[in-house]
Amino acid sequence: MSAGIDLPDSSDVVIVGGGIMGTSTAFFLATETDLDVTLVEKDGIGSGSTGDSSAILRHHYGDQEIYSRMARWSHDFYRRFDEETGAAIAYEGNPMVRFANENTPGGEYAQAGYETLSELDIPVTRYESEDLPEQYPMLTGVAEYDFAISDDEAGYSDGADAANGFDRAARRNGATVLTGVGAESIVVDDGAVVGVDTEAGEIACETVVVAAGPWTPRLAETVGVDLPITPTREQVLILDPPEEYVDDHPSLTPTTALPGGEWYIRPDFGDGILVATHHTGEAVDPDRYDGTPDEETILELTDELGELIPELRDAGIRGRYCGVYSSTPDHDFILDQLGPDGCYFACGFSGHGFKQAPAVGKIMRDLIVDGSTSLVDADFFSADRFDDSPAGHGAVADNV
Ligand SMILES: Cc1cc2nc3c(=O)[nH]c(=O)nc-3n(C[C@H](O)[C@H](O)[C@H](O)COP(=O)(O)OP(=O)(O)OC[C@H]3O[C@@H](n4cnc5c(N)ncnc54)[C@H](O)[C@@H]3O)c2cc1C
Repeated sequence: MSAGIDLPDSSDVVIVGGGIMGTSTAFFLATETDLDVTLVEKDGIGSGSTGDSSAILRHHYGDQEIYSRMARWSHDFYRRFDEETGAAIAYEGNPMVRFANENTPGGEYAQAGYETLSELDIPVTRYESEDLPEQYPMLTGVAEYDFAISDDEAGYSDGADAANGFDRAARRNGATVLTGVGAESIVVDDGAVVGVDTEAGEIACETVVVAAGPWTPRLAETVGVDLPITPTREQVLILDPPEEYVDDHPSLTPTTALPGGEWYIRPDFGDGILVATHHTGEAVDPDRYDGTPDEETILELTDELGELIPELRDAGIRGRYCGVYSSTPDHDFILDQLGPDGCYFACGFSGHGFKQAPAVGKIMRDLIVDGSTSLVDADFFSADRFDDSPAGHGAVADNV
């Protein structure tokens, strides 16, 4: 064992990864069961994709009702986060709007989401073309769209805040959380998990949950599981809007991704405006990628934003960074037991995991303890969808 690290000899469950998924899973296992839970994180809590997340919380998922339901469940949890975990998180409500044209795939997607949210009683509004300039006075050219669908109760939070909150609450409820301890392999005997080998020694266990974000495929390989996950680099800018703009538009901007645009915007805490690329598809090694946005992309993003909001053309840049998505071919999650008995995976969250993380933690708890969950039809997330077709569920939805 390494000096200074109090590694337990054994634990009922070992979770690998202290991002939002690992900490949420630790929270639900620690608070709702009597199991011994140990989480190992190679770096710090929230230091992976979670810490770079734009943390948008929306419910509109086209006709994918499963995600809308999970997003609602998770968003309700985030609103009660303080009550549930004893930790406060940054949180702002801000509608997410989808501009669209009739008889286009984007229009069908936007309208399908309107119908799904209406059926689920999640507040949603359809605005017609003539309403758009008045509704969104800061955006130019919106009257050119046929309609817009507003996910009225969308919002945004902060990834590191939420992961740290889950971590503290899990520890208060008896979980052991070890940071600076990387897992090296999953130890298997006779087709079943018997431990996790870490940099600080082995922890004996019969159940492991690998929630290691873009690093998950590497650990999966140690038990012969091949996961179709590609880490991709996304680029984020935080802009400083001019004072007059903030005075004129205190809500700053709706959260939105324009049709055909591989980027989105949302307000940021402290009167900033966040603009980021989305699924630009540049595959990277999560240990070796350029953490600074490219000059060319900065110019492209600020130009495109300037077209939409001319007053932001000369906005200052107050922050810039890059983060990594872990994308499956269909951008749907993998929540499954794979390979040896007792080996669970929560991964492939693409660009939309944060908003679903409380539900994911609850589902993983249910799968481990009860073998099933009543929260969703978990078969949707099983990896065997890639056995028949490498595309899994097929066409990718517009998942910001
Ligand atoms: C720029 C950006 C913007 C995003 N915006 C949104 C958004 O607006 N809304 C939304 O819902 N989602 C968004 N996402 C997606 C969301 O943030 C992710 O889906 C989510 O954070 C994934 O969490 P995770 O716990 O699976 O992975 P991570 O946060 O990457 O956590 C994995 C952890 O595992 C640790 N680890 C890895 N290997 C090991 C090992 N061998 N041993 C021990 N520890 C290990 C890592 O250090 C890391 O801390 C965004 C992501 C990015 C990058």
